[in-house]
Amino acid sequence: MEINDYKKVENVPLIQIIDEDVSMLIKVKESLEGQGWMVVANTEPRKAITQYFDLNPDCVIIDLHLQDISGFQILGDFQNHNNQQFVPKIITSNINDRQTRITAYKLGADDFIEKPLDMEELTVRIERLLKRKKIFDQSVLLDELTQLYNRKFLLDVFERNIKDLIRTKQIFSIAILDLDHFKYINDTFGHLSGDKVLKTFANFLKQATRSSDTVFRYGGEEFVILFQNTNQNEGVEIVTRLINDFSKVQFNKEGGVYSVTFSAGVFTVNHPEILLESALKAADLALYKAKENGRARVEISNLTPLEQFKKTLFVSVIDDDAIIRTMLTRILKIMNFDHYELNLEVFEDGIQFFESNRLAEIGEHFLILDGAMPVMDGIEILQKVKTIEKRRDIHVFMLTGRKSESDIERALKLGADDYMTKPFSIKEFQARIERLIKRMR
Ligand code: GH3
Ligand code: MG
Ligand code: MG
Repeated sequence: MEINDYKKVENVPLIQIIDEDVSMLIKVKESLEGQGWMVVANTEPRKAITQYFDLNPDCVIIDLHLQDISGFQILGDFQNHNNQQFVPKIITSNINDRQTRITAYKLGADDFIEKPLDMEELTVRIERLLKRKKIFDQSVLLDELTQLYNRKFLLDVFERNIKDLIRTKQIFSIAILDLDHFKYINDTFGHLSGDKVLKTFANFLKQATRSSDTVFRYGGEEFVILFQNTNQNEGVEIVTRLINDFSKVQFNKEGGVYSVTFSAGVFTVNHPEILLESALKAADLALYKAKENGRARVEISNLTPLEQFKKTLFVSVIDDDAIIRTMLTRILKIMNFDHYELNLEVFEDGIQFFESNRLAEIGEHFLILDGAMPVMDGIEILQKVKTIEKRRDIHVFMLTGRKSESDIERALKLGADDYMTKPFSIKEFQARIERLIKRMR
């Protein structure tokens, strides 16, 4: 991989496919990845829904005929979630009658494709939708769900404040806010309830701040507030008040009530040479401290060297094949994960891995598992972390044999985040892992 390719990785479109037909899924994934896109494949609607919210794909392909839940239901839910934020949705179906098509379009499908799929045609239709999405994304400044400014507008406001700082010596503060245990809210009450919390939070922030402050939806459940003409103590004071007041807001669900808290990091910009990126990194580091110190609180940070802003990512390679272990170690060590500092360990089998107690380390975990191993194979490890312990801070990447469609099927059923078939090229492995980790944030 060329050095320049690294930079492009984050801009690679992510396509999500939801289909129970595994052999089809494997074929489509392979073909679309051949286009240079990143593809996440799901057979399980539940997993599909979490990955949709976690990974924020650029295009979704939903098959109509799923067992537990209809493709229409998923389409409707996704459409409700991002009303006018444009995530192109393609419905695929073996049934292609007028009524089915009309229902699909009514529910928000952007395209409808009959099966069996013609790969060339599918590719062109995805390409066309991705182009439209790009144009759409460039033209909006408001986040659709919350009606707040989105991150694109942040640089404008930041620069305006820097100009004020140069002219009038007015310093200002930036806060990053992140809802606490939001995954739990989604998992317990459903993603649409999660959306309601986000809307309420956005409205709360707007009415609780001054008109000279600007509130942004920074992404997912993260928000940024730029407090004009505000020093560090004042910033902390305001955010503390926001934390207290928001914790009193009650949400209703199924007869009960619950409340939600958030944590925040504050950074004060007191010098015109400070870049937006550094200010955000500093605020993010403070946010991280707030999470570590128990959540529902605010912390501050001052500028420190970049390296200190990195969070640890625990990557574990579990493979009985010594050659693969060595190869993966070598590649992973030279890879660059931007926000994460790599903490890598390799294991020969699942037993050794669990005995090491590595999963007790607090932080995001990324497991690269060999599907087939003599002692406790990857599938068993996956099952243990995903369905027995139900850990959501563990991301799993499976290596499977090329011919073992049933392995892929089981891996996806059990909640693997992605898989790759052996033998694979180093370049491909590197690109996939890097994209998945960058999207994970
Ligand atoms: P923590 O206290 O450490 O922040 O825990 P957390 O569970 O909030 O973890 P994290 O911030 O990493 O996860 C954010 C989750 O928010 C991941 C994703 O599923 C969910 N999410 C992101 N965007 C949306 C959205 O627009 N709607 C809903 N309902 N959920 C979203
Ligand atoms: Mg978050
Ligand atoms: Mg959170």
